[in-house]
Amino acid sequence: MRKKLFFLIVFISAAAILYWQWSKSFVIVIDPGHGGDDPGAISVTGTYEKEIALALALQAGAALEKEGYDVRYTRTTDETVSLDERIQVANEAQADLVLSIHANTVEVGTDVRGVQLLYYPDEEGTNEAAANRFLHLLIESLRSINQGAIERTDLAVLNGSTAQSFLIEAGFLTNPQEARWLESESYQKRFGLSVARTVNALMKERVFVETRKSSTVRNEDDTMSE
Ligand SMILES: [Zn+2]
Repeated sequence: MRKKLFFLIVFISAAAILYWQWSKSFVIVIDPGHGGDDPGAISVTGTYEKEIALALALQAGAALEKEGYDVRYTRTTDETVSLDERIQVANEAQADLVLSIHANTVEVGTDVRGVQLLYYPDEEGTNEAAANRFLHLLIESLRSINQGAIERTDLAVLNGSTAQSFLIEAGFLTNPQEARWLESESYQKRFGLSVARTVNALMKERVFVETRKSSTVRNEDDTMSE
């Protein structure tokens, strides 16, 4: 009986160490949208999307680093970074996951708020499933509204790198209340923690293992931003 318990403890410890080492070597590229000459959208309060994206991205990166992930950034300051350069960072880092952080706008309806997740559809539908799961957990942690996971084949950051890639539209700059939240440090911190929590949960569910290299069809002619 004691022997059995001993082997069980050894087995659990070994599994925990392996999991820890694996998460350590899991490379996550954080891509704050826009920057420098490209301000992105503008909020109802007059703040540029590039500033909000950077603040949210830095919080997400810090929270992920704290969890032991190998985090790289496409930019950490207000600088112009081309779409090609962003893809190059991800590919050179041999990223396992790319998270591009943006903020949303709508033409009509200042009451629209919540989070959207854009993904590149693969034939097996694994990216769609992963995107929906990611968004569900993020919304739950952030206590926001689910505005849906949307397939996009025309976005450079999604179709250009070989890594599993998601573009997070963190909230609507056209909604006065959500714009103020997105501009506040406390919400930015909560967003960062929620991203880290979501990634942790998906690692445990082994979602990334199943999906990370499954996007085989890449369209290199498409180089749109969002
Ligand atoms: Zn954007």
